[in-house]
Amino acid sequence: MQDFEYTAPTSLEGVIGLLSETWGETEIYAGGTDLVTCLKQGLTAPRRVVSLRNVKELKGITILDDSIEIGAATTLTTLLGNAELAKHATALIQAIEGINSKQMINVGTLGGDLCQRPRCWFYRNGYGLFGIEDGKSLIEDGDNRYHAIFGNDGPAKFVSASSTGPALIALGASLIVSGPEGERTIAAWDFFQTPQSESDRETALKSNEVLTKIIIPKNETQSATYEIRHRAGLDWPYVTASVAIGKEGTKVVLGHVAPTPWVSDAAGKALNGRVKKADAEKAGEVAAEGATPLSQNAYKVAMVKTAVKRAVLRATGQEEEA
Ligand SMILES: Cc1cc2nc3c(=O)[nH]c(=O)nc-3n(C[C@H](O)[C@H](O)[C@H](O)COP(=O)(O)OP(=O)(O)OC[C@H]3O[C@@H](n4cnc5c(N)ncnc54)[C@H](O)[C@@H]3O)c2cc1C
Repeated sequence: MQDFEYTAPTSLEGVIGLLSETWGETEIYAGGTDLVTCLKQGLTAPRRVVSLRNVKELKGITILDDSIEIGAATTLTTLLGNAELAKHATALIQAIEGINSKQMINVGTLGGDLCQRPRCWFYRNGYGLFGIEDGKSLIEDGDNRYHAIFGNDGPAKFVSASSTGPALIALGASLIVSGPEGERTIAAWDFFQTPQSESDRETALKSNEVLTKIIIPKNETQSATYEIRHRAGLDWPYVTASVAIGKEGTKVVLGHVAPTPWVSDAAGKALNGRVKKADAEKAGEVAAEGATPLSQNAYKVAMVKTAVKRAVLRATGQEEEA
C-alpha cells in the first residue's frame, strides 16, 4: 500500500476543503469497510485519506413531519434500531438486515454502502472497472456468473454492489451532496451512473463532494426488499428486488443485476395497485423481460422473477415460504 496522509477534520467544511478536484488523489473514509480493502488491493492510491469520523453533523437520524433525514455517516446498525424507519422505510431496513453481519453493519455507514465500489472480481484483481486485458473483455469470455444481466451493452458489466440503493430509489429518497460550490439535491435514481470510461465513478458525486444526507419521504407506502443469496451474510446477494406500493403507484427496483440499481417501470405498471399472488407473479415475469444475460449468468433471470414476486407479497403481508 502506498503511504498517504490521514486526516480527520471536525466539520463538513473541513472535509470538503481537503478533497481534490481529481478522483484518486484523495479518498473519503467513513467506516472503512470497503475503502481499506480498496487501499490494500491497490485499487486506489490516494495521497490523502479524509475521515468523516469526527464530523457530528453527518451522523444521526432526524424525524420530521413529512420525511426522515439520515446523516450519510450514520451506521447501518443505528438505522436498524429506528422504529420510524421500520415503519416508513421497511424496504431499506430489510435490505440492511440482508447484509446480516454485525461486523459490517456496526461500522459500515449508509453513505459508504451507497458509494461502495463494484465487487467484480476482474476489477478487484487489477483489470480495471471494465475487466479488459490486451484490448479484450475478460468478462464476456470469462467467469461472468455474478455480472450484469441488464444494462450490460456498454463496457461496464459489473453489478452495483449496494443493497440499500434499490430500496432508497423505490422509496423515492433524495440525496444531498455538498462541495466547494455548495449543496445540491439528487434523486436517489440519478445518483447512480454507469461509467463510460475507466476514470469515471459509479455515482454522480464529484471527487471534491461529500454525500451528506439521505432524505426519505414519509409516504403511505407498503414496501419490502426480497433478496436471493448464496448464503446468509458476509457475501452479496445474487439478485434483490425492492418494491414500494403507494397511492402514486408501484415502484419496482432490482439490485445486483446491472451496473446501477435497475428500475422496472413496466413491472410497476403491470401491478398497478393489484397485489394478488397472480399479479405479483406477472410483475416478476415483466421485470425479467429484456434481460441480456452473459454466457454464465442466465440463472439470474429466473431469480429476478422470484425476487419481484416475493418482494410484492412481502410488502403486502402475503409472504410465502422460500
Ligand atoms: C463481506 C462483505 C459483505 C457485504 N455484503 C453486503 C451486502 O450484502 N449488501 C450491501 O449493500 N453491502 C454489502 N457489503 C458492503 C458494506 O455494506 C459496505 O462495505 C459498507 O456499507 C461501506 O460503508 P463504510 O462506511 O465502511 O464505507 P467506506 O469503506 O468508508 O467507503 C466506501 C466508499 O464510499 C466512499 N464514501 C463513504 N462515505 C462517503 C460519503 N459520505 N460521501 C462520499 N463518499 C463516501 C468512500 O470514499 C469509499 O469509496 C458487504 C461488505 C463486505 C466486506
